[in-house]
Amino acid sequence: MSYLILLAVFGLIVGAIAKSKGRSFGLWFIYGALLFLIAFIHVIVIKTQTGKKCPKCLSKVDEDAQVCKFCRYHFTDKDFKTVNLKKEKDQIHNNKMVIVLIIIGIIFYVLVQLITHGY
Ligand SMILES: [Zn+2]
Repeated sequence: MSYLILLAVFGLIVGAIAKSKGRSFGLWFIYGALLFLIAFIHVIVIKTQTGKKCPKCLSKVDEDAQVCKFCRYHFTDKDFKTVNLKKEKDQIHNNKMVIVLIIIGIIFYVLVQLITHGY
């Protein structure tokens, strides 16, 4: 029983980190629950899936794209500045989230240990 809780916590940690990087929570949850250590290292090293929205057609395009591949909109310097600002904010947020999740994971691990082995 406690083993299942532990698996769920592992899944939650990996899933939440993946989600903060723009990936699927569900898939990474399963991955994290099944292969925690591998999935955990994997989710830490993957790049954040980013992109920017074309102001004209609202399609998601490459972050570094100069021209929208759908409507040929030319991105201005202002568009790039907005993206960079958002990216910095996201990065700070992601770093905080990872630290919080690791702490939560450790707390859960200790709790499970205490419950299974007595105080
Ligand atoms: Zn466009």
